[in-house]
Amino acid sequence: MPSLNAMARRAILAAAHNRATKAFMGRYGMRLGASRFVAGETLDQCVGVIRVLNQQGFKCNATLLGEAVASAADADRAVAEYQGLIKRLATEHVNCNVAIKLTLLGLDLGEELAESNMVRLLELSAELGLTMRIDMEDSAHVESTLKIYRNLLARGCDNVGVVLQSCLRRSAADLESLLPLAPNLRLVKGAYLEGREVAFPDKAEVDDNYVRLLEQALSGAGYTAIATHDDRMIHHAITFADQHQIPRDRFEFQMLYGIRPQLQRELLRKGFTVLVATCYGTHWYPFFMRRLAERPANVLFLARNLVRR
Ligand SMILES: Cc1cc2nc3c(=O)[nH]c(=O)nc-3n(C[C@H](O)[C@H](O)[C@H](O)COP(=O)(O)OP(=O)(O)OC[C@H]3O[C@@H](n4cnc5c(N)ncnc54)[C@H](O)[C@@H]3O)c2cc1C
Repeated sequence: MPSLNAMARRAILAAAHNRATKAFMGRYGMRLGASRFVAGETLDQCVGVIRVLNQQGFKCNATLLGEAVASAADADRAVAEYQGLIKRLATEHVNCNVAIKLTLLGLDLGEELAESNMVRLLELSAELGLTMRIDMEDSAHVESTLKIYRNLLARGCDNVGVVLQSCLRRSAADLESLLPLAPNLRLVKGAYLEGREVAFPDKAEVDDNYVRLLEQALSGAGYTAIATHDDRMIHHAITFADQHQIPRDRFEFQMLYGIRPQLQRELLRKGFTVLVATCYGTHWYPFFMRRLAERPANVLFLARNLVRR
């Protein structure tokens, strides 16, 4: 029997595709709560947020919001926008890397297109001393995303990392096959609506799998980004790293801008590296709906803002 939270999560993710919801949120969403999770609609606003976070001691990770393009020309425009972002971050000398979704670079139009676009961005990033992270999208894109990641490593790109999701049944095998490559991995629970054939239906199983992946990743070669707001996962990572004498420069914690800022500061105070992921842009709708779905209580926060208007 799925929990109330799980049912609410599925309902929010399903409602996200509804036209009326999209139109309403497109108009009012930023004022109703999206601005809590989005570091601005423009790059200037995002850079301002990054500066403040850097001053507090956080690393950052900038993402231009946007998903799945419909043509090679659109993918090319996304490359140009990301090139602008990379150059701006380098000029500003901020401590910030860059995250991107391969569907924005044309993955749905062909793996070769997405890979060659990614190579263009990685070359520029390497030249300017930045690293990039390929976000993980829904399960339909995992195989091709990991294939491209492996190809990039084989080409000698060493400024790129990828993501594994503990909700997916395949992730343990994926991790095992990646570990010999000393990957730069971000571990997350997974933000997409998935079927039980590919994903664990119960949150407890997703959490248990997160712990297993975490231990496996920390024990292997490579660098692990522990991307979660879950106290239990974070506490487990710290204890495991202590017990196995895993140096602190082999892992970091990552959280999303606007979520559990006090916990972010607490980890920083304890001497851990903490990255705050900052997203910006006008295409914040799907990102915001995933944040609502992760914590259905956020819908109450949105509803309160609605009443206050
Ligand atoms: C840096 C970063 C990068 C990510 N990249 C990806 C990616 O590439 N692909 C992908 O599928 N997913 C990604 N995610 C999202 C991730 O998969 C989860 O959906 C998200 O992190 C919520 O899970 P959790 O680990 O925090 O645990 P949960 O068990 O969902 O939450 C634990 C606790 O954290 C707090 N919390 C969690 N989410 C919220 C929220 N939205 N608002 C308020 N409080 C909240 C609550 O207190 C909650 O009890 C990323 C997450 C982070 C932090």
